[in-house]
Amino acid sequence: RLELHDLVRSYAGRRVVDGVSLSIAPGQVTGLLGPSGCGKSTTLRMIAGVETPEGGRIVIDGREVAGAGANLPPEQRSVGLMFQDFALFPHLSVSENVAFGLKGRGMGRAAQRDRVMDLLDRVRLARHAAAYPHELSGGEQQRVALARALAPHPRIMLMDEPFSGLDNRLRDGIRDETLAILKEEGTAVLLVTHEPEEAMRMADEIALMRRGRIVQQGAPYNIYNAPADRAAAAFFSDVN
Ligand code: ATP
Ligand code: MG
Repeated sequence: RLELHDLVRSYAGRRVVDGVSLSIAPGQVTGLLGPSGCGKSTTLRMIAGVETPEGGRIVIDGREVAGAGANLPPEQRSVGLMFQDFALFPHLSVSENVAFGLKGRGMGRAAQRDRVMDLLDRVRLARHAAAYPHELSGGEQQRVALARALAPHPRIMLMDEPFSGLDNRLRDGIRDETLAILKEEGTAVLLVTHEPEEAMRMADEIALMRRGRIVQQGAPYNIYNAPADRAAAAFFSDVN
């Protein structure tokens, strides 16, 4: 379970995250939606531990990872990350990319190799294990990024528009496949998206963000039917 309590972060004296509180149950997918610049990526960066909150607390499975009492480094937070541009290591093969997330976790070599091969099987890339990222299609690269992020069994997966760089024709299939694997692993997900359809399709809950705050959180159906404001209503108006 992920809990955000009153998170605050400013840049140049402007509060871009202005008291974000949010809770994600284990195994649930929460879609984080909001206009450009409202603070979505900044919120994700604070959860990941690459940005420090000025105020508030982040609690993962009952443990405070950021707040007055603690500030754990990213690798101790049990958080996986996936971004729009996948950010694979170009000089590492597919299996080395996936294994990267397992380094320094006290896992034996055989166990590491088993975990990597199991994940590559499940994302249908076993036969590309020795290939390099530039030899793969966009969809395949996305699956490598998913396998790499999942390798250390993170409790929370943070996804910042992970499908927006993909070809339209592939996107629906890749969304469904990604969701199935996340559900198998039981990972809770915070998914930033600009696409209402994607949120309706993938999320168990939706959180709407405006100017650094969460203005509404609930089941997609409820938000669709009773949007908190006109912008939310407009946002969903072309989903059917
Ligand atoms: P988008 O949908 O366009 O990705 P976002 O909701 O992810 O937007 P953020 O990236 O969180 O928005 O940025 C929120 C605000 O904070 C923006 O106005 C942005 O310019 C500003 N900002 C973000 N990171 C920094 C930084 N490192 N230094 C200064 N300002 C920043
Ligand atoms: Mg962003």
